[in-house]
Amino acid sequence: MNTTQTSIAQWVRANIRRLVPYSSARSEFKGKAEVFLDANENPFETGLNRYPDPLQWRLKEKISALKGVPASQIFLGNGSDEAIDLVLRIFCEPRQDNIVILPPTYGMYQVSADIADVGLKKVSLTPDFQTNVQEILSAADEHSKILFICSPNNPTGNDIKLSDIEVLCAQFPGMVVVDEAYIDFSEQASCISLLPKYPNLIVMQTFSKAWGMAGLRLGMAFASEEVIHYFNKVKAPYNLNQLTQTTALEALESKVEDRNQMVKTLLEERVKLEKVCRDLPYVQTVYPSHANFILVKMSDPNAVYNYLVEQGIIVRNRNSVHLCEGSLRITVGRPDENVTLIEALKNWKHL
Ligand code: PMP
Repeated sequence: MNTTQTSIAQWVRANIRRLVPYSSARSEFKGKAEVFLDANENPFETGLNRYPDPLQWRLKEKISALKGVPASQIFLGNGSDEAIDLVLRIFCEPRQDNIVILPPTYGMYQVSADIADVGLKKVSLTPDFQTNVQEILSAADEHSKILFICSPNNPTGNDIKLSDIEVLCAQFPGMVVVDEAYIDFSEQASCISLLPKYPNLIVMQTFSKAWGMAGLRLGMAFASEEVIHYFNKVKAPYNLNQLTQTTALEALESKVEDRNQMVKTLLEERVKLEKVCRDLPYVQTVYPSHANFILVKMSDPNAVYNYLVEQGIIVRNRNSVHLCEGSLRITVGRPDENVTLIEALKNWKHL
């Protein structure tokens, strides 16, 4: 299907198309005034007595400049997990529609679908963790409203080929979400540049990884104005609190260099960690990573996992995950943490 000829509205749930969104005090009057008595706020200054900007325009302008996407094409949420949840609620009719996911992948797509009572079609990645384009397209039916692609993929760490993502954007008969939570660690270009070409594309990013701000809860979705309009209709009126907005603005104004330095260090550390792991006698494979973690396949993952816990080092056991059997997912830590990890891994007595 040539989605460029198609209006997105046809895939939006009828009740969301009809929805009259909540109109907050701050969205009804946006101008300057001396006395604000319209929102039942406490007038005494506490630093947080006023409701925040419901559409976070200042923050969006900054992000717009950084990403080269108009502010009107940006949604900001309480982590990208909020954007994942909203996209399901906008497009999928419970007990009727389904989403397509590509395991092994990030767990929240399935959990959000289960919560929304939306069906799930799973199309496995290939053994080298790439997309099986033809299988995805044949799995999709008229009720398949969203395809979730995670690139770089969690928990495998690899980029999904851009050429495959483009074919899927062009041919998948619904919305294509590309979750780029780890894109700042990758050399592959973001799919943001594809937005003008594919109106069914939604690109998600986050402040939780490269920016080092997982505690802030700030996720971003980039899409056509039409799609962002629906996000804004369904979101909670003040979904991003004032502290998050202020802290993110400060980071964008003065912490870009820090962020770049952290990414650089983490990439160097990842290379070191990959090399050490490859040389361990009990390791079979260190999968190529374009993220801030590595997936390592070994002969006795449960025993190594338990041993690391005893050493006070917690990694993620992915041994029971489809296509990740035998593997631990290890986040790249600070240099001192990686030294501790490497020492422990070298000391593991394997039979
Ligand atoms: N997408 C992927 C692929 C992730 O791995 C994660 C978090 N681990 C998220 C989204 C959620 O990010 P956020 O903290 O922005 O909700």
